Amino acid sequence: LLTLGVFAMRALANLLGQLMPLEDVKVSALDRGFLFGDAVYEVVRVFQGKPWLEEEHFQRLARSLEAIRIGGVDLVRLRRRVHETIEAGQFREATLYLQITRGTSMPRRHAFPMQATPLELIWVEDYDDTATAAARRSGVGVITHPDLRWHRCGIKSTNLLANVLANQAAHEADCSEALLYLPDGTLTEASHSSFFWVQDDAVWTTPSRDNILPGITRALILNLAKRANVTIRGGHLRRDDLSKIAELFLTGTTSEVLPVVRIDGKPGGRGDPGPVTRKLQEVYSQAVREFLAG
Ligand code: PLP
Repeated sequence: LLTLGVFAMRALANLLGQLMPLEDVKVSALDRGFLFGDAVYEVVRVFQGKPWLEEEHFQRLARSLEAIRIGGVDLVRLRRRVHETIEAGQFREATLYLQITRGTSMPRRHAFPMQATPLELIWVEDYDDTATAAARRSGVGVITHPDLRWHRCGIKSTNLLANVLANQAAHEADCSEALLYLPDGTLTEASHSSFFWVQDDAVWTTPSRDNILPGITRALILNLAKRANVTIRGGHLRRDDLSKIAELFLTGTTSEVLPVVRIDGKPGGRGDPGPVTRKLQEVYSQAVREFLAG
């Protein structure tokens, strides 16, 4: 148990069908996830004990597995294990982490092993939204940082070193996130979030064909846009044009819709959360309420 203030954070794992405290999970040093980052993952938000956007996350997981050619994972069984783990720990407000690696083999070789059983790890942990909820009200600061990732960012793989370094740079600058830019100055997405911006009375986001992770929250916002009387277009924002935007916000599974009010130390847009961002936060919360009522 990790105790944060008065809130006892619990984490329960499910390793290949076996429930155990997260700290008891042991994975082989020969696991290809550990050696090569040869693995894919998902993070799902659990509201009141119910996994949110479960179908969408499992569809993306299936696409990631197929893209890196990990076969033999029974996704129906995996989904059942997700529910069993949430129930066993009686989780209410939680996050669910799910990782599949290509498994273990000897000796260490880059090419796929002839025989390996994928490692299927799930854990559920209590989630305290207090700090993020405050950030959603006030807005956050971001930095811009070179996008040093590989060319298959649509795959949700555990190869996250470039994301880790960018996010660390953000934290060292007292910011929450790093907006990533290509050598020509085009912004792609953030280290663990998608982003949208408001400019010339329209809302924009990088098209998903452009080598970004197709965020589940991003897709939800695209679907909910109509409800907010907002039209969202695909487009590109250059780092040099950041001074021209009216609003910018991040989206992600735990961030939800997070206003950005400072970029590289200067006010972003109006310098406070803008009306389009607020409206999309509202329709997001409404969608969660409907899910919980349904
Ligand atoms: N972009 C990247 C690079 C991410 O790692 C993530 C989430 O971890 C996102 C976007 C947001 O995706 P989602 O809304 O599915 O959480």
